[in-house]
Amino acid sequence: MSRIVYVNGEYLPEGEAKVSVFDRGFLFADGVYEVTSVLDGRLIDFEGHARRLERSLSELDMAAPVTMDELLEIHRELLRRNELVEGMVYLQVTRGAAADRDFAFPDPEAVPSSLVLFSQAKSLVANPAAKAGIKVISIDDQRWTRRDIKTVQLLYPSLGKMMAKAAGADDAWMVEDGQVTEGTSNNAYIVKDGRIITRQLGHEILHGITRAAVLRFAREAQMQVEERAFTIDEAQSADEAFITSASTFVLPVVNIDGVALGGGRPGRVATRLREIYIDESRKAAI
Ligand code: PMP
Repeated sequence: MSRIVYVNGEYLPEGEAKVSVFDRGFLFADGVYEVTSVLDGRLIDFEGHARRLERSLSELDMAAPVTMDELLEIHRELLRRNELVEGMVYLQVTRGAAADRDFAFPDPEAVPSSLVLFSQAKSLVANPAAKAGIKVISIDDQRWTRRDIKTVQLLYPSLGKMMAKAAGADDAWMVEDGQVTEGTSNNAYIVKDGRIITRQLGHEILHGITRAAVLRFAREAQMQVEERAFTIDEAQSADEAFITSASTFVLPVVNIDGVALGGGRPGRVATRLREIYIDESRKAAI
Protein backbone atom coordinates (compact mmCIF):
# COMPACT_ATOMS: atom_id res chain seq x y z
CA MET A 1 0.00 0.00 0.00
CA SER A 2 1.44 3.38 -1.00
CA ARG A 3 1.58 5.88 1.82
CA ILE A 4 -1.01 8.64 1.69
CA VAL A 5 0.28 12.11 2.57
CA TYR A 6 -1.55 15.38 3.13
CA VAL A 7 -0.57 18.43 1.08
CA ASN A 8 -2.54 21.67 1.30
CA GLY A 9 -6.02 20.21 1.51
CA GLU A 10 -5.45 17.00 -0.47
CA TYR A 11 -4.71 13.42 0.51
CA LEU A 12 -2.43 11.96 -2.15
CA PRO A 13 -0.23 8.91 -2.74
CA GLU A 14 3.27 10.00 -1.68
CA GLY A 15 4.60 9.79 -5.24
CA GLU A 16 2.03 12.35 -6.43
CA ALA A 17 2.45 14.84 -3.59
CA LYS A 18 4.36 17.96 -4.66
CA VAL A 19 5.43 21.33 -3.27
CA SER A 20 6.77 24.27 -5.27
CA VAL A 21 10.51 24.85 -5.75
CA PHE A 22 9.74 28.41 -4.56
CA ASP A 23 8.41 27.16 -1.23
CA ARG A 24 10.14 29.17 1.50
CA GLY A 25 10.66 26.03 3.55
CA PHE A 26 12.87 24.74 0.74
CA LEU A 27 14.64 28.05 0.01
CA PHE A 28 15.00 29.61 3.49
CA ALA A 29 14.12 26.88 6.03
CA ASP A 30 11.22 29.28 6.71
CA GLY A 31 9.03 26.69 8.34
CA VAL A 32 8.11 25.00 11.58
CA TYR A 33 7.19 21.42 12.38
CA GLU A 34 5.83 19.00 14.95
CA VAL A 35 6.12 15.26 15.43
CA THR A 36 3.31 13.53 17.29
CA SER A 37 3.55 9.90 18.31
CA VAL A 38 0.88 7.30 17.73
CA LEU A 39 0.15 4.30 19.96
CA ASP A 40 -2.81 1.95 19.37
CA GLY A 41 -3.80 4.18 16.43
CA ARG A 42 -4.24 7.20 18.73
CA LEU A 43 -2.32 10.46 19.14
CA ILE A 44 -0.09 11.11 22.15
CA ASP A 45 -0.29 14.61 23.63
CA PHE A 46 -1.86 16.17 20.54
CA GLU A 47 -2.91 19.26 22.45
CA GLY A 48 0.63 19.97 23.65
CA HIS A 49 2.00 19.69 20.12
CA ALA A 50 -0.78 21.87 18.72
CA ARG A 51 -0.14 24.52 21.36
CA ARG A 52 3.60 24.54 20.71
CA LEU A 53 2.91 24.79 16.97
CA GLU A 54 0.76 27.87 17.56
CA ARG A 55 3.56 29.39 19.61
CA SER A 56 6.24 28.63 16.96
CA LEU A 57 4.00 30.20 14.29
CA SER A 58 3.31 33.30 16.32
CA GLU A 59 7.00 33.80 17.22
CA LEU A 60 7.76 33.86 13.48
CA ASP A 61 4.68 35.89 12.53
CA MET A 62 3.48 33.06 10.31
CA ALA A 63 -0.22 32.41 9.73
CA ALA A 64 -1.74 29.11 10.81
CA PRO A 65 -2.98 27.38 7.64
CA VAL A 66 -5.91 25.68 9.44
CA THR A 67 -7.48 25.79 12.89
CA MET A 68 -6.17 23.43 15.57
CA ASP A 69 -9.47 21.48 15.42
CA GLU A 70 -9.01 21.03 11.68
CA LEU A 71 -5.44 19.95 12.33
CA LEU A 72 -6.64 17.21 14.67
CA GLU A 73 -9.07 15.99 12.00
CA ILE A 74 -6.28 15.91 9.40
CA HIS A 75 -4.09 13.88 11.77
CA ARG A 76 -6.91 11.41 12.35
CA GLU A 77 -7.79 11.10 8.69
CA LEU A 78 -4.13 10.43 7.88
CA LEU A 79 -4.02 7.69 10.53
CA ARG A 80 -7.19 6.15 9.09
CA ARG A 81 -6.02 6.26 5.48
CA ASN A 82 -2.66 4.73 6.35
CA GLU A 83 -4.04 2.29 8.94
CA LEU A 84 -1.29 3.46 11.26
CA VAL A 85 -1.21 1.70 14.62
CA GLU A 86 2.19 2.73 15.97
CA GLY A 87 4.58 5.40 14.73
CA MET A 88 4.58 9.14 14.20
CA VAL A 89 2.82 11.91 12.32
CA TYR A 90 5.13 14.61 10.97
CA LEU A 91 3.62 18.00 10.19
CA GLN A 92 5.27 21.02 8.61
CA VAL A 93 4.01 24.54 8.03
CA THR A 94 6.02 26.86 5.80
CA ARG A 95 5.50 30.46 4.77
CA GLY A 96 4.36 29.22 1.36
CA ALA A 97 5.66 29.76 -2.15
CA ALA A 98 6.16 33.37 -3.24
CA ALA A 99 6.56 34.15 -6.95
CA ASP A 100 10.30 34.75 -6.62
CA ARG A 101 13.11 34.19 -4.16
CA ASP A 102 13.05 37.20 -1.86
CA PHE A 103 14.34 37.42 1.74
CA ALA A 104 11.43 39.64 2.77
CA PHE A 105 8.28 37.78 3.80
CA PRO A 106 5.54 37.69 1.15
CA ASP A 107 2.15 39.26 1.88
CA PRO A 108 0.27 36.51 3.77
CA GLU A 109 -2.97 37.53 1.99
CA ALA A 110 -1.39 36.78 -1.38
CA VAL A 111 0.79 33.82 -0.36
CA PRO A 112 -0.89 31.39 2.05
CA SER A 113 1.24 29.27 4.34
CA SER A 114 1.65 25.69 3.25
CA LEU A 115 0.81 22.55 5.23
CA VAL A 116 2.22 19.06 4.75
CA LEU A 117 1.68 15.98 6.92
CA PHE A 118 2.85 12.42 6.57
CA SER A 119 2.92 9.38 8.81
CA GLN A 120 5.75 6.99 9.56
CA ALA A 121 5.08 3.49 10.84
CA LYS A 122 7.58 2.59 13.57
CA SER A 123 7.77 0.35 16.58
CA LEU A 124 8.12 2.82 19.48
CA VAL A 125 7.43 0.80 22.62
CA ALA A 126 9.55 -2.22 21.64
CA ASN A 127 12.64 -0.10 21.03
CA PRO A 128 15.79 -2.21 21.68
CA ALA A 129 17.61 0.96 22.81
CA ALA A 130 15.29 1.11 25.83
CA LYS A 131 16.87 -2.10 27.15
CA ALA A 132 20.44 -1.46 26.04
CA GLY A 133 20.62 2.30 26.62
CA ILE A 134 22.32 4.72 24.24
CA LYS A 135 25.79 6.25 24.06
CA VAL A 136 26.22 9.98 23.61
CA ILE A 137 29.16 12.24 22.84
CA SER A 138 29.37 15.95 23.60
CA ILE A 139 29.68 18.53 20.84
CA ASP A 140 29.69 22.31 20.67
CA ASP A 141 26.18 23.79 20.27
CA GLN A 142 26.40 25.79 17.04
CA ARG A 143 22.68 26.34 16.41
CA TRP A 144 20.96 29.72 16.27
CA THR A 145 19.80 31.15 19.61
CA ARG A 146 16.01 30.66 19.30
CA ARG A 147 15.90 26.91 19.83
CA ASP A 148 12.56 27.26 21.58
CA ILE A 149 11.00 27.76 18.13
CA LYS A 150 10.65 24.40 16.40
CA THR A 151 11.96 25.39 12.98
CA VAL A 152 12.97 23.05 10.16
CA GLN A 153 16.56 24.35 10.25
CA LEU A 154 17.98 20.99 11.25
CA LEU A 155 21.34 20.98 9.49
CA TYR A 156 23.43 21.32 12.64
CA PRO A 157 21.50 18.59 14.51
CA SER A 158 22.03 16.37 11.44
CA LEU A 159 25.76 17.10 11.54
CA GLY A 160 25.69 16.30 15.25
CA LYS A 161 24.12 12.89 14.60
CA MET A 162 26.80 12.21 12.00
CA MET A 163 29.55 13.21 14.46
CA ALA A 164 28.01 10.79 16.99
CA LYS A 165 27.85 8.03 14.39
CA ALA A 166 31.48 8.60 13.38
CA ALA A 167 32.46 8.29 17.07
CA GLY A 168 30.56 5.00 17.46
CA ALA A 169 27.82 6.68 19.55
CA ASP A 170 24.06 7.05 19.08
CA ASP A 171 23.58 10.76 19.65
CA ALA A 172 25.26 13.98 20.71
CA TRP A 173 24.57 16.28 23.65
CA MET A 174 25.25 19.88 22.74
CA VAL A 175 27.25 22.13 25.05
CA GLU A 176 27.17 25.92 25.26
CA ASP A 177 29.24 27.98 27.72
CA GLY A 178 30.34 24.75 29.37
CA GLN A 179 26.81 23.49 30.00
CA VAL A 180 24.63 20.94 28.25
CA THR A 181 21.72 22.45 26.33
CA GLU A 182 20.02 19.32 24.91
CA GLY A 183 20.44 16.36 22.56
CA THR A 184 20.30 16.78 18.78
CA SER A 185 16.59 15.87 18.79
CA ASN A 186 15.73 15.36 22.45
CA ASN A 187 15.97 16.85 25.93
CA ALA A 188 18.79 15.70 28.24
CA TYR A 189 18.62 14.62 31.91
CA ILE A 190 20.87 13.26 34.62
CA VAL A 191 19.94 11.60 37.91
CA LYS A 192 22.02 12.08 41.06
CA ASP A 193 21.06 10.80 44.52
CA GLY A 194 17.50 10.27 43.31
CA ARG A 195 17.15 13.84 41.95
CA ILE A 196 16.28 14.35 38.30
CA ILE A 197 18.21 17.27 36.82
CA THR A 198 17.36 18.86 33.45
CA ARG A 199 18.05 22.26 31.96
CA GLN A 200 15.54 24.99 32.72
CA LEU A 201 13.32 26.31 29.91
CA GLY A 202 14.52 29.33 27.95
CA HIS A 203 15.46 30.26 24.39
CA GLU A 204 18.39 27.83 24.57
CA ILE A 205 16.36 24.62 24.29
CA LEU A 206 13.20 23.28 22.72
CA HIS A 207 10.40 23.06 25.25
CA GLY A 208 9.83 19.34 24.84
CA ILE A 209 6.26 18.12 25.08
CA THR A 210 7.60 14.81 26.40
CA ARG A 211 9.77 16.76 28.88
CA ALA A 212 6.69 18.50 30.31
CA ALA A 213 4.80 15.21 30.65
CA VAL A 214 7.74 13.29 32.14
CA LEU A 215 8.49 16.00 34.72
CA ARG A 216 4.81 16.06 35.69
CA PHE A 217 4.75 12.26 36.13
CA ALA A 218 8.04 12.36 38.08
CA ARG A 219 6.64 14.97 40.50
CA GLU A 220 3.41 13.02 40.87
CA ALA A 221 5.51 9.96 41.80
CA GLN A 222 7.22 12.09 44.52
CA MET A 223 10.54 12.22 42.65
CA GLN A 224 12.65 15.34 43.14
CA VAL A 225 13.13 17.48 40.03
CA GLU A 226 15.73 20.23 39.63
CA GLU A 227 15.46 22.41 36.53
CA ARG A 228 18.98 23.76 36.03
CA ALA A 229 21.90 23.43 33.65
CA PHE A 230 24.64 20.83 34.18
CA THR A 231 28.09 20.16 32.75
CA ILE A 232 29.42 17.06 30.99
CA ASP A 233 31.68 16.46 34.03
CA GLU A 234 28.66 16.43 36.33
CA ALA A 235 26.81 14.15 33.91
CA GLN A 236 29.72 11.71 33.83
CA SER A 237 29.63 11.41 37.61
CA ALA A 238 25.82 11.06 37.76
CA ASP A 239 24.11 7.83 38.79
CA GLU A 240 22.19 7.67 35.53
CA ALA A 241 21.13 9.73 32.53
CA PHE A 242 18.37 9.71 29.94
CA ILE A 243 16.76 11.59 27.07
CA THR A 244 13.14 12.32 26.14
CA SER A 245 11.36 13.06 22.88
CA ALA A 246 7.99 12.31 21.29
CA SER A 247 9.37 9.47 19.19
CA THR A 248 11.72 7.90 21.76
CA PHE A 249 9.68 8.54 24.96
CA VAL A 250 12.27 8.08 27.74
CA LEU A 251 15.54 6.42 26.68
CA PRO A 252 18.36 5.64 29.11
CA VAL A 253 21.85 6.99 28.38
CA VAL A 254 24.58 4.60 29.52
CA ASN A 255 27.74 6.25 28.22
CA ILE A 256 28.84 9.89 27.92
CA ASP A 257 32.05 10.65 26.00
CA GLY A 258 33.33 7.13 26.68
CA VAL A 259 32.50 7.15 30.42
CA ALA A 260 30.03 4.41 31.41
CA LEU A 261 27.20 5.32 33.79
CA GLY A 262 25.65 2.83 36.21
CA GLY A 263 27.98 0.06 35.04
CA GLY A 264 26.85 0.68 31.45
CA ARG A 265 23.27 -0.42 32.14
CA PRO A 266 19.99 1.57 32.10
CA GLY A 267 19.18 3.12 35.46
CA ARG A 268 16.11 2.51 37.62
CA VAL A 269 14.72 6.03 37.39
CA ALA A 270 14.88 6.13 33.59
CA THR A 271 13.36 2.66 33.30
CA ARG A 272 10.54 3.53 35.71
CA LEU A 273 9.82 6.86 33.99
CA ARG A 274 9.65 5.14 30.62
CA GLU A 275 7.05 2.69 31.97
CA ILE A 276 4.98 5.45 33.57
CA TYR A 277 5.18 7.63 30.46
CA ILE A 278 4.03 4.82 28.14
CA ASP A 279 1.19 3.76 30.47
CA GLU A 280 -0.10 7.27 31.06
CA SER A 281 0.26 8.29 27.41
CA ARG A 282 -1.69 5.27 26.21
CA LYS A 283 -4.48 6.12 28.64
CA ALA A 284 -4.66 9.77 27.61
CA ALA A 285 -4.19 9.25 23.83
CA ILE A 286 -6.95 10.60 21.58
N1 PMP B 1 14.98 19.13 21.69
C1 PMP B 1 15.14 19.11 20.37
C2 PMP B 1 16.26 19.89 19.77
C3 PMP B 1 14.27 18.35 19.56
O1 PMP B 1 14.43 18.34 18.22
C4 PMP B 1 13.25 17.59 20.18
C5 PMP B 1 12.33 16.71 19.35
N2 PMP B 1 11.64 17.38 18.39
C6 PMP B 1 13.11 17.65 21.56
C7 PMP B 1 14.00 18.44 22.30
C8 PMP B 1 12.03 16.89 22.29
O2 PMP B 1 10.79 17.50 22.09
P1 PMP B 1 9.44 16.63 22.15
O3 PMP B 1 9.45 15.95 23.47
O4 PMP B 1 8.37 17.65 22.05
O5 PMP B 1 9.50 15.69 21.00
